[in-house]
This record gives sequence, C-alpha cells and structure tokens, in this order.
Amino acid sequence: MNRDLSLNNKGLINSEFFYQREITREVSVGDCVVGGLNPIRIQSMTTTVTQDIQGTTNQVERLVEAGCEIVRVTAPSLRDAEALFEIRRELKKRRVNVPLVADIHFTPNAALKAAEAVEKVRVNPGNYADKKRFEVREYTETAYLEELERAAERFRPLVIRLKALGRALRIGTNHGSLSDRILNRFGDTPLGMVKSALEFLDVCESESFYSVIFSMKASNPQVAVHAYRLLAKHLSEREPEKPRYPFHVGVTEAGGGTEGRVKSSIGIGALLEDSLGETIRVSLTEDPVREIPVAQTLARRFEGRAAGGFKHSLTSVSYVDDRHRYKRRPTLVHTKPLKLGGSEDVRVELCVGHISNLPSTFLEDIQNAEAATELHVESLLVDVDREGVPALCDLRKSLAREFSGIALAARVESGLVKTVLEVSDRVVIQVFSADDFNLIDQIKNFLIDGKCLEIELIHREGELFDLGFLKSLNEKYHAQIMISISSDFPVQATRMLSSCLKSLGLFLPIILRQDSETPESFESRLISTSSNLGSLLCDGIGDCISVGGFSTPEENIGVAYRVLQGARRRTSWTEFISCPSCGRTLFDLEEVTERVREKTSHLSGLKIAIMGCVVNGPGEMADADFGYVGSGFGKVNLYVGQNCVIRNIPELEAPDRLVDLIKERGRWIDASQDG
Ligand code: SF4
Repeated sequence: MNRDLSLNNKGLINSEFFYQREITREVSVGDCVVGGLNPIRIQSMTTTVTQDIQGTTNQVERLVEAGCEIVRVTAPSLRDAEALFEIRRELKKRRVNVPLVADIHFTPNAALKAAEAVEKVRVNPGNYADKKRFEVREYTETAYLEELERAAERFRPLVIRLKALGRALRIGTNHGSLSDRILNRFGDTPLGMVKSALEFLDVCESESFYSVIFSMKASNPQVAVHAYRLLAKHLSEREPEKPRYPFHVGVTEAGGGTEGRVKSSIGIGALLEDSLGETIRVSLTEDPVREIPVAQTLARRFEGRAAGGFKHSLTSVSYVDDRHRYKRRPTLVHTKPLKLGGSEDVRVELCVGHISNLPSTFLEDIQNAEAATELHVESLLVDVDREGVPALCDLRKSLAREFSGIALAARVESGLVKTVLEVSDRVVIQVFSADDFNLIDQIKNFLIDGKCLEIELIHREGELFDLGFLKSLNEKYHAQIMISISSDFPVQATRMLSSCLKSLGLFLPIILRQDSETPESFESRLISTSSNLGSLLCDGIGDCISVGGFSTPEENIGVAYRVLQGARRRTSWTEFISCPSCGRTLFDLEEVTERVREKTSHLSGLKIAIMGCVVNGPGEMADADFGYVGSGFGKVNLYVGQNCVIRNIPELEAPDRLVDLIKERGRWIDASQDG
C-alpha cells in the first residue's frame, strides 16, 4: 500500500526517495550569490605563493577564463593578507571581476586584514581560535566552557568586521583538524565536526551576522557525506521553519588523476543527490584549472534536473539504519559460484552488452588487463537472445578452461531461462510490471543448486511495484536470488528497493549496475558512474557493482575498482591522500606525489598522505598510516600516523626514507609478493 509522503516545514516532500532541489538562504559573495535559486557555484583555489602577485593574478585569471566563479587564495600571514590588496588591484587593471576568498588558518590578524580586501573569509574553527596540540585530556564542564568562551571572544572581532564590511564567511571544518577541546569530547567524528561549526555559528548569530556558508570536508568521502548530512539535520532542528545556510561541498585531499576525480564525484555527487551543496570545489593535486570542467560536469548533472523519484513510499522504514553513520546493509552470503554479500568484498562485474559485441580478442584482453593491473573480473554479464546461445556456450567453455574463477551471468528473455541456466551461473530477468511476477513463478522451477536468479526491476514511472511476492520465493531459494534496479533515478530507486526489502525482512544482495550506452567522454562517464555508484556504496548498499559503457574492458574494470576504493568499500591500491596544494606548499606536490606513488603504489591497504605544509598537513591527513609533509623549502618531515618521527630531511632523499620507514614498521611488501 502506498503511503503519501508528507511535506516538511520548508514545503519539500519529506523523502529519501525523491530528488528535489532545496532552496536555501542566499549569501552574497561580492556579485556572486550562493544559494536560493542560483546555480550551483563553481569555485577553486590558487596554488601559487600569494605574495607572488603576478603569478597569483595570472592563475586567478586562468581560473576565471575556465569558468570558475569564486577563487580562494591562502593568507597564512599578515603580509599575505596585505598582498591580497595588490592582487585585487591587478585583477581590476585586467578587468577580471571575480569574488576572492581569503583562506585563514591560525592567524586572526591576517583574517581581519584580509576581510578588507576580499569578498569572503574562510576560517577553520579547529585552528582559528582554539589550541591545537594533539593533547589528550579530560575537560571538566567548567574548563570546556571557559575554553569555548575564550575561542568565541577571539573569533568575535572578525564577525563584527565582516558584518561592517558586508563580507561573507565560510565556517570550513575539516575532519582531522578539529581542536583539542572538540576532539577530546566528541572524537574525530562527524558529530565533532558539526559541533565545532555550530559553536562558530552561535557567535555569528549573536552578532546578527548571517552571511555564512558551511563546509565539512574530509578526505574520506564516507565521512564527508555523513558530516554534511548531520550538519543539515542539526541546522534544521535549530531553525525548523527557516531555510538552511548554504553549503560549500567538496572532498579534501582527494589526490589527482582518475583517483581524485572518482573520490570527488563520489562525495560531491552523493551530497548533491540530497540537494546539499550550493557551491562546489573539486580538489585535485593538479593545475587547479583542471578542477573546473570536473566541477562543471558534476554541477550540470543536477542543474535543471527535474524533481523525481517516488512521491509515495511503500514502507515506513528508512533505507538504512542511520543516514549519519556508515553501516553495510546486512545481506545473506551467496556462496556459489561467487562469494557475494554479507561481509564479503563488494564484487566486480564486467558488463559487455550483447554477446555478439564481444570482440574476438576479448578473452585475451581481459587476461592482459588482469595481468597488467592485477584487477580481477569476478563476474561477466552478457545479453543473450536465441541467436546468441551458441556463442554463450563457446564463452562458457573458454571461461571454464582459462578463467575458472569468473562467474558468467546472462541477461535473457524469460523463454530462454532454462537453456541459458545450463551454461551460465546466473540468469538476469528484467521485470517491467507486476504481471511479470507470474513469469518468475514459473522460472523458479528451473533453478538448480549453484545457479542464481537475478531479478532486475525496471523502474519507469515513479512507482515500484509491490515486492511481497519475493517473500515466498525467498523462503525456498534465498541463497540463489539477488536483485537490482534500473531507473532514471538510480539512487532514489535503489534506496526505495533497499527500504522495501528491509520492511519485508529480506536480505537479498543488491547489484548496482551502471552501463549506459549514451555517448559520453571518458571523464564525464567517470563522473556519472562514480557519483551514482558511490552515493549508494557510501550508504552501505551494494554487494556487487557492474560497470559498462567505457571503451575497453580494462577501463570498465579499472573504474569499478577505483569507485570501490574511493568509497572505501574495497582496497586494491595504496590509498594516497594528497592535498591540492596552495600558497603554503613547499614543493611541487604533483611531481612529489608521482615519485612517492611510483615507489609505493603496490602497498594495497596502506594510506600515505602527501601534504604541502607542516601548518595544516599533519592535522588534515586524518587517518593516514604514513605522512610526507613539507616542513620548509626543500625539507620534509615524515610521520607515522600523526607522530612526526623524522624531521627536516632533504626533499631528494625523502621518498627513499619513506620506503625505509615503511619497511622498519613492518608494512612493506615487495611488488612481486603483492596480490
Ligand atoms: S596542507 Fe596543502 S592545501 Fe592545506 S594549507 Fe598546507 S599546503 Fe595548503
């Protein structure tokens, strides 16, 4: 029975299953208005030394030409803050009109100066006014409140200055750089991040200053997603009737290349699915100009997107237990032919379309792909019609001969199920309406031990049919049934599916499929694939992902594994956490990251942070196992966790010393031993 979804206090449909744009407060950043009905604003940050006026102005100009609407510049010292006046003058001379943001850490005097030169100031509540000594101590209530009061009084003059000048403020909290006070009370958690931000909001509101934008960044997209959602919840509880403050959304220290694009698309995409994000920044360890097309592609996916999904709910249960904390959706484990579900790794399926499209070199190609990248195709999905059955039989034989570990799945019409089940491990049946359930009733008689049936629901009109029929099927065949859904709103539809299964007490594994044939560039497909799959993976949904649509099997497989790693659901490589660099950076971060990567990329499961400066790096590298942090020009500090163990070594020696350190700590394996 459908349950009509109510409207919330802001007039929005109260639903996790319906996409709609939330209209927030508007905040003016110079001429650029963020929030309200305005487009999602694109922003970035310069990587030049701020006092290099020409270099910084040139980079700002290139960013604006690429489509950047707000540009952030670091102001680590008073002299940098003063340089912002000159940059502004130089931009004016060149007729470049763009709002600037001063990025402040630790230096209230620089913030007060910068506020005069730029349209917005970003502060990090973890280090603007609080102590940061990584101390572990018990705070009594009185000691906590006294320290909070001191922090508020250090921050208040900036709020008063911003208000008088008509400037905006970003309260930019980062996972990993929370104050000792917050860390000791709430831990390095999304809740700690939210509490830290709201303490600063209290000061702003006590001065009747409302030009506030929030960010809650983390290098782990799961943490970022949960922190932003939790902040939205707290803001809504604080002022249920009022539109919320706009959010600046991004994943920090995402790295570069495919990895950085995937991580950013997962975190930003997941939040935009919930309409959280009025301005976005994609942080890449690359020339910042290359961030802009990625951010534009992400924003375009949601700009002008019609509201859609489900206006009704089939259940009264949420699709996950808690939207503010990661927990994998519980499922039963399928043991044949592939271990899937439960706490097993999320499996990777390669989707190749119609079997006749298989190139003659296909098996060789996947063999080469696996040999070259050590990524494994665990399941292969082909579409098969009557004419394709002989080719399927041949494929089965070849797979049995050379790729015995690969499960073979075939998507077929109902009439072919019996034939195809004999030569494949799983049949996929598409279900378009409730009438098709009769077919499934007949098909189940063909199920034999060790073979699976996947029911792929085709969601077309905002309604999902009653899945009660699965209950009887599940009683007898529970270890053989899995389910997937295809929809124009894949995130909302899969959430509804998860919710329905939960209400029926069914623990069927869910396969997430992304195999659109619409022509798209590699980057654009990478972004949509990461965003759609990553949103659900961050919620703990998905036991197998099936990726198609890229031009080669290698690309399909590589992207699938990248998405799993980005969502922290399955690790195949070393996890690199590298900052995008800024005016504080003390070396060529892109080049150094590459040098470190060359030596260590085979250490699957290890997290290595490469950070440009010692001021913010150690705090922001959060959960890294080892850290490589610039400590002065040409000098590097090495960290184990958050402890600095080697100081000021020459930059040229540093990558080798890092390898030695990893060996000393027993975390090294030779490349040949890996995998
Ligand atoms: S860690 Fe990197 S991006 Fe952050 S302040 Fe330091 S150099 Fe800049």
